[in-house]
Amino acid sequence: MTDYDGTIAPIVSDPTHAPPVPGVVEHLDALVSLVRGVVVLSGRSETSLRSLLPVRGVLLIGENGIEALTPEEDVRLRLFRERATVAVERWSGAVIEAKTASISVHFRSQPEIGAELERVLADLIHGSGLMMVANRMVFDIQPRRGTKLRCVCRLIREMKPVAILYAGDSREDAHVHRGLKAARIETLCIGLKSTEMPADLFKYADLILDGPSEMSALLGRLVQRWRDRTPGLLQVPDAVST
Ligand SMILES: [Mg+2]
Repeated sequence: MTDYDGTIAPIVSDPTHAPPVPGVVEHLDALVSLVRGVVVLSGRSETSLRSLLPVRGVLLIGENGIEALTPEEDVRLRLFRERATVAVERWSGAVIEAKTASISVHFRSQPEIGAELERVLADLIHGSGLMMVANRMVFDIQPRRGTKLRCVCRLIREMKPVAILYAGDSREDAHVHRGLKAARIETLCIGLKSTEMPADLFKYADLILDGPSEMSALLGRLVQRWRDRTPGLLQVPDAVST
């Protein structure tokens, strides 16, 4: 299971043009026939994921796995969207992406506005019942917290894996690591570090990587290992751990 942006694709200024790093598509394609399930779980919409990752057999889950909203949640989110659209007009680099069950406010092309944008959005959210998660160059606004971990737990119940590898670069991913470490299942939790996230974010990770290219290299080595049926399902390949 892996996150998308910042994990298998770089954070680029235009979120609509963020293809995966070289090798990822081939490695995910190979993994489909080697493991029980390959899942990409992201805050992006499922449509966006499908256009960026045309790999048959990979389960693509958008909007952090959030399930259908209640009518009240839907109204809250729509009201926030209307207010936020007006409030961020002053910044050319603030882009609102309205999805089915959440809203993302991107600022990749104008990183310097991050702190003020966060203040403005926090004011709008105050008392609305919505949650805001500060991720890398994006604020995700949704009616519920911890949806990624809930989705991962649901997938574990459905897919019954013997072990899980989970990789991600943001707060929700660190929250998933913590949840997985409390579950009775073999896990390899991977955190991808960045300048935008606190250095101590990945307290529960078994392995910290420098960026999506290292993640792609790791996936390539795991494909090799599992093709060769090398024992040690979730042992980190040497070339990565050193
Ligand atoms: Mg990410």
